[in-house]
Amino acid sequence: MAGELKRKIRATIESLAPELVGICRDIHSNPELGFAEFRASATLCEVLSAHGIPARRPAYGLETGIAAEIGRAGPYVGVISEYDALPDVGHACGHNIIAVAGLGAALGLAALGDQLPGRIRYLGTPAEEGGGGKELMARRGAFDQLDCAMMVHPSTEDLPAFPLIANARVTVRYHGRASHAASSPEAGLNALDGLVAAYQSIAALRQHIPAGHRIHGIITDGGSAPNVVPEFAEGEFVVRAPDIERLNALRARVHACFEAGALATGTRAEIDWNDIVYADMRTNWPLAGVYQRNAEALGRVFERFEDVPLSRAASTDMGNVSYLVPSIHPMIGMAPKGTVHHHRDFATWSASDEGMKAAVDGALALAMTAVDFMTDDGLRAEVRAAFRTGVPVSPLPM
Ligand SMILES: [Zn+2]
Ligand SMILES: [Zn+2]
Repeated sequence: MAGELKRKIRATIESLAPELVGICRDIHSNPELGFAEFRASATLCEVLSAHGIPARRPAYGLETGIAAEIGRAGPYVGVISEYDALPDVGHACGHNIIAVAGLGAALGLAALGDQLPGRIRYLGTPAEEGGGGKELMARRGAFDQLDCAMMVHPSTEDLPAFPLIANARVTVRYHGRASHAASSPEAGLNALDGLVAAYQSIAALRQHIPAGHRIHGIITDGGSAPNVVPEFAEGEFVVRAPDIERLNALRARVHACFEAGALATGTRAEIDWNDIVYADMRTNWPLAGVYQRNAEALGRVFERFEDVPLSRAASTDMGNVSYLVPSIHPMIGMAPKGTVHHHRDFATWSASDEGMKAAVDGALALAMTAVDFMTDDGLRAEVRAAFRTGVPVSPLPM
């Protein structure tokens, strides 16, 4: 049965390819930041509606979130689109491709009509780049009842999974006292010095943290005039570690660096950890294997997850989803090796012919994986068992 359904899905998605490519390029040309993806989310909703699928927006508490239900009974699969871009570098993470891969999969599955052997919850999840849209939607029930969830991310190669580690964001504000920087510096308390002392402490700490841990940050406010002792300074930092436990340990050390900056300068540090923490990704390997086989059937050639150096690890709010339901976050190749995410070159590749092919192939592979999941009782049992036992996140040497 699965073979026949897959043939139909392939015919549908291939016939929709010109429309899908048009949407992919349109989202790429109109990059929108997290939670402000009004145009992209409206476009996706319009296309769903035009194909007879009622879509909700806002959804699960987010203005630019989308939800659509397809099918009535049976195994319940979440299919996810992201569509946020980055400041300055636009779609340098290729979320226009993620958007269309998810959309195309939903359209392909919906076209099966009564033959769809399960249910789909299509979700448009805003603000992956730091806003934690999936976590916010999860708190409102977006992933409740689902038996699994899937998405695909563009990259430089095809991989069944990617090393995706936990992260936490923090904003730190230093409060000092302004004064004349030349005639009465002794009357001032320099908030910028507090932040710089903390920054340097973190730079020193960075040399002595384990592989797979990361700390990086910027100064967002360093004072307003060079002849005024800064009474206020602000920075934003991201702390990452292979899992939540190790993340919490590193957070404590970074927190101490912020306090040290305040102590050294007599200023006051207001340390504001974002309550949205990105969890590490617990890839569901039985499901990831099925995705790989479906993508290979389209002629795609995979590299091994084990061969991806830990130094390339990133983070995603899909990690949070992976703790709620069995989840996959495979990568689909479309840019030459050496191209890095969040660089302008990656944005260029995200609008290339290879990028468009990745969007369509991604839609096909996701839809076919959903069909396998819905029609194969044994696979569902394996997926559930792997989820219950908490499959090792990865065989990485951490
Ligand atoms: Zn990104
Ligand atoms: Zn991304």
